[in-house]
Amino acid sequence: MTGLGKLGEFGLIERLRQRLGPAPAEVALGIGDDCAALQLPAGEQLLVTCDLLLEGVHFRRDWTDLRRLGRKSVAVNLSDIAAMGGTPRQLVLGLGLPGDLSLEEFDLFLDGFCAAAAEHQVAVIGGDTCRAQQFLTVSVTAFGSIAPNRLLRRSGARPGDLLLVSGTLGDSALALAQLQRGEQPEDSLLARHLDPTPQVALGRALAECGGVSAMIDLSDGLLADLGHLLEQSGVGARLETAAIPRSKPFARLTAGSEEGLDLALAGGEDYELLLTAAPEARDRLQAIATQIGVPLAVIGEILPEAGELQLLAADGRRLAPGHRGYNHFARD
Ligand code: ADP
Ligand code: MG
Repeated sequence: MTGLGKLGEFGLIERLRQRLGPAPAEVALGIGDDCAALQLPAGEQLLVTCDLLLEGVHFRRDWTDLRRLGRKSVAVNLSDIAAMGGTPRQLVLGLGLPGDLSLEEFDLFLDGFCAAAAEHQVAVIGGDTCRAQQFLTVSVTAFGSIAPNRLLRRSGARPGDLLLVSGTLGDSALALAQLQRGEQPEDSLLARHLDPTPQVALGRALAECGGVSAMIDLSDGLLADLGHLLEQSGVGARLETAAIPRSKPFARLTAGSEEGLDLALAGGEDYELLLTAAPEARDRLQAIATQIGVPLAVIGEILPEAGELQLLAADGRRLAPGHRGYNHFARD
């Protein structure tokens, strides 16, 4: 029998506990009691974020292997800590396990989850494990910390600031679109969808160096997440669509079609950082990104008019509101 029932709830928790290395010093009490007990670094505030990954909503078991699902469950949460400029420290894992999930699949999930946590030196300190009726449910809560004066919020963008984005956009959404069409995405694109990399080192370095006025991570798509940042800052923006960084495979596969711009603007699940900074800080921020090995591109500028979003095409023309990227935006 390979089902999970044989081990039972406590057998599964023990299996998880055995996979984890020794807890770091700030975990005064880890898995095994009614609560974990944590020490916060002196002078820092606690950051808390939670994400659900629901089968049929956020992932399909026939499109992802469980190891990568485990990794992605960590990544999407650490991306939120990164977006504040914080240091991720602990994870809490809630699992709803359907009866048809095999022990092998459970082990693969744990492998991926624990490996991704270890890569970021994040301790797994607790959770809850239940049987689910039908669908695999993953709920992850991440804790991080940051000095209060370093915290990068969505609300700090000012007119005249540059708009910058890390990495390349659209790869994940292109892979998803291909899966939905029944096509097999290239490995590099599929990896961006199933196993995204949270920009933790870059987020922290940007917060430490100063000069960044606002930051958000890109989970819902550039236009939607930029919209959140503009709204909370009470400003507008000019976005040069030709400056949006795209990977080589993405550019090749979307050349000559409208799909490329749509996916880059509205696709989602990029897990890159979108930030604003005064123009004087540009060189310093670029140097930090280069040092970390992540590209950082200027894609526009913050405007004083609240709610104004100007989308400029490569030839400088304003894109008409009928453009599909705009329609996506309206639906969001
Ligand atoms: P309680 O019933 O008091 O909530 P549990 O029996 O559910 O306690 O959990 C026992 C211990 O195992 C707790 O420390 C809990 O945080 C941990 N735990 C349970 N499920 C998980 C999980 N999926 N991941 C990590 N830790 C877990
Ligand atoms: Mg419990």
